[in-house]
Amino acid sequence: MVRSRFQPTDRSLWPEAGRDWDDWRWQMRNRLQSLDKIERLIALSDDEQQACQATIGEFRLGLTPYYASLIDTGDADCPIRLQAIPRMLELQVSSDEAADPLAEERDMPVPGLTWRYPDRVLLYTSHQCAVFCRHCTRRRKVSDPDSAPSKDQLNGAIRYISEHSEIRDVVLSGGDPLSLSNQRLAEVLRALRAIPHVEIIRIGTRHPVTLPQRVDEALCAVLKEVQPVYVHTHFNHPRECTQEAFDAAARLADTGSVLGNQMVLLRGVNDRASVVQDLNRKLLMMRIRPYYMYQCDLSEGTSRFRVPLHRGLEILEALRGHTSGMAVPHFVVDLPGGGGKVALSPDAVVEKNDDYWLLKSYTGEIVRVPSGEG
Ligand SMILES: *Cc1c(COP(=O)(O)O)cnc(C)c1O
Ligand code: SF4
Repeated sequence: MVRSRFQPTDRSLWPEAGRDWDDWRWQMRNRLQSLDKIERLIALSDDEQQACQATIGEFRLGLTPYYASLIDTGDADCPIRLQAIPRMLELQVSSDEAADPLAEERDMPVPGLTWRYPDRVLLYTSHQCAVFCRHCTRRRKVSDPDSAPSKDQLNGAIRYISEHSEIRDVVLSGGDPLSLSNQRLAEVLRALRAIPHVEIIRIGTRHPVTLPQRVDEALCAVLKEVQPVYVHTHFNHPRECTQEAFDAAARLADTGSVLGNQMVLLRGVNDRASVVQDLNRKLLMMRIRPYYMYQCDLSEGTSRFRVPLHRGLEILEALRGHTSGMAVPHFVVDLPGGGGKVALSPDAVVEKNDDYWLLKSYTGEIVRVPSGEG
């Protein structure tokens, strides 16, 4: 079985959990949200200790026991730890950074809906997450319970979609849409599916990574009902590909949903080709197709994660041809200021004229190809 190549999770730090471990409500109730709760399990550095307290007002702290169990406590720079535990550097805001780097609030025709491209919208459903990722683009509002979209606001945004027939693709985003109850989520999904011009529904969620237990029977039943649905996950490191995540992805794929992954390129986490290749091969075994590899957005306090743009291209070059084409995502930069996404790819065209183009193969060989113009 392919599943046996995935790591089981180590629950030994939570002997009291028993079978509750598999219940996402237990995981949410027992999230580690303060310094002392984390310190009982992991010895933090001075910097991390200070940061856990100093950043609370900026961006809350929180991780599920499941996600915490993936931390290698013997590794000060464990990739899971880097994503979930704050550092003091988060309080430094560089001049390139902004609270809303993608100007999502500007392109809002109604509250809770960003409409930037001709035919698709982002619909914000919740500001709650299972883990507050330190690199979050929406840290300005995610984790702040007071800014969460109200029921009226969400209904208003859905009404707006129903009144605009250009919108054929709706991306549920957040926070995490799977933070809604199954009942509320079913209402939202059914309301969208009832709109004749909505062709596809997408759900952007990190729960398969941070709280795979959330993919329960009731959720799967609703997803089956409202197909076609695309689920975009956010795996950043092969350590996150556990047996539990594997099972959650299997349950999701069995609903008929098409699974894609949106990785964020993060310094110290996944800025090496070997790590990205390992991750993407694991994702393919989970029936998740790597979709985007994002340059980390310029949200405030995220400079510790930023990777030079050229590294992204080098990683693509190391993947293309060397492993399954399906394991090669698009490398995208979401333009600061809200200009939209730009896909970057390594230059394959060495020279071109009316007769022929010179193209570089994945091994570096230069080959002449007729231009087809004549
Ligand atoms: C990323 C994004 C989308 C979806 O873009 P795709 O390239 O189709 O995946 C839609 N709207 C906004 C505002 C986005 O940022
Ligand atoms: S799950 Fe997504 S929205 Fe929530 S903190 Fe992580 S990156 Fe931000």
